[in-house]
Amino acid sequence: MSKNNIYITYLYNSGFIAETEKHLMIFDFCLGVSDVNTINATVLKSKPYVTVFVSHAHRDHFNPMILRWRVRRPDIQYIFSDDIPELDNVIRMRSGEAIEINNMNIIALPSTDIGVSFLVTVDGFVIYHAGDLNYWNWQQENNSIEEYQIRQRKAKIAFQRALYPLRKEEIDVAFFPVDPQIGSNYDEGAIYFINNFSPKVFVPMHFRREYAVCEKLRKKLGSSESQVFCISHVGQVFSYHKG
Ligand SMILES: [Zn+2]
Repeated sequence: MSKNNIYITYLYNSGFIAETEKHLMIFDFCLGVSDVNTINATVLKSKPYVTVFVSHAHRDHFNPMILRWRVRRPDIQYIFSDDIPELDNVIRMRSGEAIEINNMNIIALPSTDIGVSFLVTVDGFVIYHAGDLNYWNWQQENNSIEEYQIRQRKAKIAFQRALYPLRKEEIDVAFFPVDPQIGSNYDEGAIYFINNFSPKVFVPMHFRREYAVCEKLRKKLGSSESQVFCISHVGQVFSYHKG
């Protein structure tokens, strides 16, 4: 693999594999037992370093079976959010913490839900995985308009505050929720993120199998500086060359 390339494979929900020259990184793997085994010995031995990130304990982000990968790759490095209980040989990070390990720099940053988001500098790339950080502007349910507006304002402030630590970062690849369950405002957080942080590549996530959101977002953005990866199936691979 040439030096300035990154390959991204869609696993499911917020789960991805990212591969750079020397690193294999797996984020928020949440698939079932048989899928855990698709990350087989060949995959796990394909790079000098393997790092597994889990942003928080929700079942749509974490399957404890991933700890079995260590059998096939004993020096695998697990980096979990500190809402997950302590485990042997797992580094747990809380928001605000930074570590350098395996020639990579990892910073755990806030989420607007439980757990953390991750900023990873590796092989010349800056990667951001938002975890469950989003502008969770849920559509009005049974609340009054005033209640809704108060809730909406609070969610927006929490969202913008959580992103503040990223203000000086030049992000190459951002994994970020675009969740149609929110209702008509489902892409508001993503659009704010793209407009304010201009990642080179924006990878929508947390939409389960509702792939249409990717194309809708790309159309809505028009001629944005950020390239949006339009995911259409599990296992899809994208590449980006930083030149
Ligand atoms: Zn989630």
